[in-house]
Amino acid sequence: MNNLKTITFLKKFLIVLVLVSFLGLTKAQEVDDESEFSYKEDSKNGPAHWGEIKPEWRMCNSGSMQSPIDLLNERVEVVSHLGRLHRDYKPSNATLINRGHDMMLSWEAGAGSIQINGTLYQLRQCHWHSPSEHTLNGRRFDLEIHMVHESMDNRTAVIGIMYKIGRPDSFLSMMKQDLKALVDTPNVERAVGIIDPKLIKLGSRKYYRYIGSLTVPPCTEDVSWTILRKVRTVTREQVKLFREAVQDESETNARPIQPINQRRIKLYRPRDNEN
Ligand SMILES: [Zn+2]
Repeated sequence: MNNLKTITFLKKFLIVLVLVSFLGLTKAQEVDDESEFSYKEDSKNGPAHWGEIKPEWRMCNSGSMQSPIDLLNERVEVVSHLGRLHRDYKPSNATLINRGHDMMLSWEAGAGSIQINGTLYQLRQCHWHSPSEHTLNGRRFDLEIHMVHESMDNRTAVIGIMYKIGRPDSFLSMMKQDLKALVDTPNVERAVGIIDPKLIKLGSRKYYRYIGSLTVPPCTEDVSWTILRKVRTVTREQVKLFREAVQDESETNARPIQPINQRRIKLYRPRDNEN
């Protein structure tokens, strides 16, 4: 080997060395994350016990406005005064991360906002649950995306879109390579460049609105939920990516349905002349 070749070889060797130690580190973190909470119903850290794991997670067990819920037709009040959902999103730099319990796409500042009852909520991140967390008249679907927004005074508004098996979803087709790259590597961030949140299609003007909570610990309440009425479609292959990414034994990450209690669910339907 001449000098140049030796140097190239040493460089490659160093890169491999760094990668191996890096992967070792993420493995250790993965174990930590898994022990925090799980989706296994009969497990000590399963959904029925989330509220006992940490004092700051107690709402998961004692809250009365928890999510997800079943959106049952008979309980829904149809209204037209909520108005159309106004999304003012902008393309912005984003990072993808496999958090162990889900896959999350987060935007740097400036991805735009939505407006609900005069309050601006900035888009922070979106992540996916499989199967869907919310149900429609008792029916669970294959996938649900949550687009998480925050207001200046730290209130949260989430837009949820549900998907069943069918034609491919174009946003997930676009993200395919990035999602694939992270399926087996929890807690590694991947820069994915500029992503336009508008490419996550709503597909309908009709939506449900109710007040609930985060569906993972700490299960914080007073979250404004907007669930699109229309169930969109994804392919089995697209759903499989999210299932495999979940480091839970069950390969699922949907919290069980929570009691509605005294809550009202509204269904916004535009008047005919607004269509
Ligand atoms: Zn979620």
